[in-house]
Amino acid sequence: MADENTAEADMLKWAKGLAQKHGWMLNPDEKQMHTVIRGLVRNKEKFGRPYCPCRLRSGDEEKDRSIECPCVYHRDEIEHDGQCHCHLYFKKV
Ligand code: SF4
Repeated sequence: MADENTAEADMLKWAKGLAQKHGWMLNPDEKQMHTVIRGLVRNKEKFGRPYCPCRLRSGDEEKDRSIECPCVYHRDEIEHDGQCHCHLYFKKV
């Protein structure tokens, strides 16, 4: 449990840093935001990479690189939809 909490804290720190670097913010709904963070931690532990918890992996490492967080889609999604598919990163309003 302690390890899990540490892994989540590390993932959250990393996500916050990325958001800050790009002028985004994390989902203000903390419950939703933590669900995504937990999903990323789980995928990292299970598959070795922080695959998007909201997309299906193909199982092909090469192909699945595109859905490793931050996925290749996130910039367009944040720009056009206001948030990424998982609702982790939000455009600041
Ligand atoms: S949709 Fe968001 S949380 Fe999911 S991989 Fe892309 S950037 Fe990460």
